[in-house]
Amino acid sequence: MADTVHAVTIIGSGPAGYTAAIYAARANLKPVLYAGGPHLDEPARVPGGQLMITTDVENYPGFPEAITGPELMERFKAQAERFGTVIHFENVMKVDLSARPFTLEDESGRTVKTQTIIIATGASAKWLNVPGEADYTNRGVSACATCDGAFFKGEDVFVVGGGDTAMEEATYLAKIVKHVTVLHRRDEFRASKIMQHRVLQNPKISVVWNTVVEEILGDGKRMTGARVKNVKTGEMVTLPAGGLFVAIGHKPNSGLFDDWLETTDSGYIKTVPGSTRTNEEGVFACGDVQDSVYRQAVTAAGTGCMAAIEAERFLVEHGQ
Ligand code: NAP
Repeated sequence: MADTVHAVTIIGSGPAGYTAAIYAARANLKPVLYAGGPHLDEPARVPGGQLMITTDVENYPGFPEAITGPELMERFKAQAERFGTVIHFENVMKVDLSARPFTLEDESGRTVKTQTIIIATGASAKWLNVPGEADYTNRGVSACATCDGAFFKGEDVFVVGGGDTAMEEATYLAKIVKHVTVLHRRDEFRASKIMQHRVLQNPKISVVWNTVVEEILGDGKRMTGARVKNVKTGEMVTLPAGGLFVAIGHKPNSGLFDDWLETTDSGYIKTVPGSTRTNEEGVFACGDVQDSVYRQAVTAAGTGCMAAIEAERFLVEHGQ
């Protein structure tokens, strides 16, 4: 059944998706938002995006006393609903962008026609998948130094990874914590030379090379350290630390659009600089699925706003 043609369909329910919904709804475009939900590949996935796995958010403007990630997302959702956004708590399974109106198929088997699509499917941090990691997530283990670094003042922490993100996280954390130890699985970083240099010359950062985390340890309440292995010698040691930041990359959730949209080598949807337009007219991408650089809730919300405004202008230009 495909009777109605929506003006705007938003896919994703993080800060980008809900902000796009607030703007589109207030422009009377009656947006429909697919919020996602548990997925076969990721049964723990919940609507609301990465903020749902964050504790206190202290850097979102307007909340000087901080707000928890889930509460912030509940407010985004309430604001989108207040102006009439229709929210489906399920995933879009298939898209066909070969002609406008575009066609989407959702998990309930509905076929949806839509004049424009705003993609806000976000990115997922890659995790180590070692014992203890899930137990101590938000109790020592984090995938975002900008979000959680301030909770580790005066502590020793690990950063795992050897790319630009790991360098950036380590440099950021070194300004806050007592000492940062970067654990890297090889004997050289893949990060850019300038960012490596910042890490290697920082007296508050040391590097343990050729080392992988085998297990994250804790006292039941908080993380206390990690069991690590030297991949060259096989030697195992236990190192104490109050925090561990996983910085082994993010995976943009762009797979649904593989057949249709241009992406970077890392899978981020390409948008025209300074806009949210993709290579497909009428399809806009905002938030972390198109941003490998800033990846903040507030920047995601900003691009969600841009996407709604661009979708609205597109509809006007096309007489819809
Ligand atoms: P990345 O470049 O893919 O680096 C990931 C790092 O994690 C690599 O060092 C990799 O080791 C390691 N790793 C991967 N899986 C692992 C595992 N299971 N266990 C242990 N280590 C693992 O990812 P990224 O650092 O997030 O950067 C992504 C992109 O964003 C890059 O293009 C980067 O340049 C860009 N970026 C730019 C900036 C900036 O310019 N300010 C900041 C952040 C990111 P190996 O080296 O052994 O593969």
